[in-house]
Amino acid sequence: MRWGLYPRGPGAAALAAARNFWARPRLRCHPRGRGTARSVSGASNQPQSSSNGRYRDTVLLPQTSFPMKLLGRQQPDTELEIQQKCGFSELYSWQRERKVKTEFCLHDGPPYANGDPHIGHALNKILKDIANRYHMMRGSKIHFVPGWDCHGLPIEIKVLSELGGKAQNLSAVEIRKKARSFAEAAIKKQRSAFIRWGVMADWNNCYYTFDGKYEAKQLRIFYQMYEKGLVYRSYKPVFWSPSSRTALAEAELEYNPEHVSRSIYVKFPLLKPSPKLVSLIDGSSPVSFLVWTTQAWTIPANQAVCYMPDSKYAIVKCSTSGDLYVLAADKVTSVASALETTFEVISTFSGADLEGGTCAHPLIPDKASPLLPASHVTMTKGTGLVHTAPAHGMEDYSVASQHNLPTDCLVDEDGVFTDVAGPKLQNKAVLEEGTDVVIKMLQAAKHLLKEERLVHSYPYDWRTKKPVVIRASKQWFVNITDIKATAKELLKKVKFIPGSALNAMVETMDRRPYWCISRQRVWGVPIPVFHHKTKDEFLINSQTTEHIIKLVEQHGSDVWWTLPPEQLLPKEVLSQVGGADALEYVPGQDILDIWFDSGTSWSYVLPGTDQRADLYLEGKDQLGGWFQSSLLTSVATRKKAPFKTVVVHGFTLGEKGEKMSKSLGNVIDPDVVINGGQDQSAEPPYGADVLRWWVAESNVFTEVTISPSVLNAARDDISKLRNTLRFLLGNVAGFNPETDSIPVNNMHVIDQYMLHLLQDLANKITDSYKQYDFGKVVRLLRAFYTRELSNFYFSIIKDRLYCEKAGDPKRRSCQTALAEILDVMVRSFAPILPHLAEEVFQHVPYAKEPKSVFRTGWIRTSSIWKKPGLEEAIESTCAMRDSFLGSIPGKNAAEYEVIIVIEPGLLFEIIEMLQAEETSSTSQLNELMMASQTTLLSQDPPLVTTDVIERQGTFLINLEGGDIREESSYKVIVMPTTKEKCPRCWKYTAESSDTLCPRCAEVVNGNMKHLEGRCYVPLHLCLRGSSKFYI
Ligand SMILES: [Zn+2]
Repeated sequence: MRWGLYPRGPGAAALAAARNFWARPRLRCHPRGRGTARSVSGASNQPQSSSNGRYRDTVLLPQTSFPMKLLGRQQPDTELEIQQKCGFSELYSWQRERKVKTEFCLHDGPPYANGDPHIGHALNKILKDIANRYHMMRGSKIHFVPGWDCHGLPIEIKVLSELGGKAQNLSAVEIRKKARSFAEAAIKKQRSAFIRWGVMADWNNCYYTFDGKYEAKQLRIFYQMYEKGLVYRSYKPVFWSPSSRTALAEAELEYNPEHVSRSIYVKFPLLKPSPKLVSLIDGSSPVSFLVWTTQAWTIPANQAVCYMPDSKYAIVKCSTSGDLYVLAADKVTSVASALETTFEVISTFSGADLEGGTCAHPLIPDKASPLLPASHVTMTKGTGLVHTAPAHGMEDYSVASQHNLPTDCLVDEDGVFTDVAGPKLQNKAVLEEGTDVVIKMLQAAKHLLKEERLVHSYPYDWRTKKPVVIRASKQWFVNITDIKATAKELLKKVKFIPGSALNAMVETMDRRPYWCISRQRVWGVPIPVFHHKTKDEFLINSQTTEHIIKLVEQHGSDVWWTLPPEQLLPKEVLSQVGGADALEYVPGQDILDIWFDSGTSWSYVLPGTDQRADLYLEGKDQLGGWFQSSLLTSVATRKKAPFKTVVVHGFTLGEKGEKMSKSLGNVIDPDVVINGGQDQSAEPPYGADVLRWWVAESNVFTEVTISPSVLNAARDDISKLRNTLRFLLGNVAGFNPETDSIPVNNMHVIDQYMLHLLQDLANKITDSYKQYDFGKVVRLLRAFYTRELSNFYFSIIKDRLYCEKAGDPKRRSCQTALAEILDVMVRSFAPILPHLAEEVFQHVPYAKEPKSVFRTGWIRTSSIWKKPGLEEAIESTCAMRDSFLGSIPGKNAAEYEVIIVIEPGLLFEIIEMLQAEETSSTSQLNELMMASQTTLLSQDPPLVTTDVIERQGTFLINLEGGDIREESSYKVIVMPTTKEKCPRCWKYTAESSDTLCPRCAEVVNGNMKHLEGRCYVPLHLCLRGSSKFYI
């Protein structure tokens, strides 16, 4: 709203409104700690026009065209205008071209190129942008290249499902083509959202993992690791998704806590007892080993039963069957109760005594399953004896490799039993009918003791939402055991924020036995290996790989599927490796895990020879994902971490900490936050700055909640900030810092004190940005503009600003402080609210071109602003003011006069600095007291009428870091003023209600230039009738 458009001009209504918006007088006394906020009270000594408006044009009201509020669409529209006008899109290249020494490199973790931009993207990208903008303003050249992770199963599956039945007939090349255009469409949408959020980058030069040059770099890393023996092909159990027909990495799983398995207790009959066991059994009853498993379908692949050598085991007699069972001694009671029977313990022995024994496979009577010691056996569940199927468990596999047991897999890519499993099981899906048949077979063999349904957490394919199995297959692996130790050592030099993230990362790394990097899909980077058509041999060496890398670099990885074998393996390459014929080989069918794609981004994106980023900043899921794959590939190839600092943020959750999901209806779309929803009264258009303020304000190191009320609160914060800025802008009108500034030491004490606070604020803010603690920046700023400025300083200085002469040093002193405050404030929040910061800059009356806060550096404060001694003066005066205001609750302070009595001493000397005369209505002391007049005495006045209030207090002066300490008492005597209200400044300082107070008389009469026109201000300040006059 332009107040200048009021029909009566800037008169009484405008002034009253100004008071309302800029400082609501609060007539209460706050308890107050030293150096903290103080409330303004009784602030009604502001100028208002007299009833005839005679002096209204003689006061200097704030003027600025900076709008107080942006209503409805104005907010997002103004942001778009600012982006255009202030060159948001050119800022990245501008700052790259600067000649500066330091560079700050934030390496963008690539979001996945599927789906629409969501609130999680907003959190991540805005945090990065705040960090970048801060470092840029501090003078570093920013290296930030946004990227996208473009390959992978989720995109491939989406494309295939959209094609439906037609997908069956598509070639790999056709699927890849469709997957690429799908990814491109997603990238386009996400990019325009990121730009709209104000994220600074060169959006025409991003990186994409499907770019040929990127793929070539990635293959080079692959080959370097292969050459070092860190990449190998092996037959091992891996997580396998029958629904996607591919191996999956740990990061591609999600655990379903509601999964139901059919758990079973099975007897493994004793075949050959260990020597110790021989002595404990008499052969009168059959002996079996009790095993419990949740995966009945893995029983056919059993190769052993494992025990814990250090634990006690028992032979028990079952009261129901009379059979003897072996199980862990600790599990006797619980297992008996599960089997609804009782066990009588015959004897106990150590687990190690089982060594050398064997039991029979419950479905294949002649097959021996050795009893083996293993460290992974636990007593938390089951019987203390673990069924071991090396093809279907990582730990089982490791036991099998120690004892040279076979790792035969009876399950194919579709999760179906193969013919090797026998006719009863062949072609049956292991998790469905297969499980059922196995249980029936165990029942028929009389080895099943019990079956029950068990609800437990089970891994699912994160994309198809179907359960996975563990299945041995020939895959490519990265041997991370050899890399882990170095990686952990290097991590010690990396700064993690929060610090606990380091342990979390090490733990996830420790949990990973190996990294399976091959996938049996087509949308990805091929593993550049050729397989012999008839022999189980493969071909890969530096010549073949170099040739493929060159092709990929030029034409992209499509060549793997489009070029004939003789071009992928040309004669000259083959002749170097012994003259084999290309036609004897076929290109391998596996592609690389997308974590390998994105994990090698450092080699393509990071600048310089060092190729280390100053910062990686991602969500906590990346501790087991991108942070880790980046670290492992970097350590494997060059023995260094790709990052110096890692900042980890939480996930976005709903208001009550619940996950966001469409079904819960709590999904917040960033586009709706910015542009509003269908019902704009329920979902108003907030603009991007509100979204950014929310991001900055959140404690990002834990989970981050978002809801309509959170966003609304963010909007309110920004509105208050806007009002503060408007006051600052309005009151520096007509001020030129270069010519009008007052040297710090000549400024009013309160103005000097504000600079002192400002310097402290600036240091704390800079420090918080340095620590990436943007929430603290917001809290510091908010406290400053609400408490120190709006509630305190602004209410005190209005009289000086509005009623003194334009060029009066008292007024200039205040404006000097305001100009500094404005500058520090804008730079402080600029990284967080770039649109508002630039908008403010367009309204700074003395701003020089370029009018851009981002092109003019970081906060500049002066060490001479630091004046801790002033705290004593202001704090003690405020203590006395609190006594005064507390004594007249609900009253207008200006209608009272105050006598302050302080015994001679340090406190008196300090207060005397603020008022040299005994009694004054214009002193700095009286300004702070906001009274009609203040009298400063060192002893009690002689007379005191009955109509007075007396308050006493003490104040502890603490100077020079505690070297000077002195407690002084003071007395505040309050009485109604005998003066009348000045019709110009409204202070009770006039002799009669129709004469000006001495100060106003001097201001008005001393400047009368064109009395006839009833204008009483200097010509150059005569603003009457000017359309520029707003407040
Ligand atoms: Zn006056």
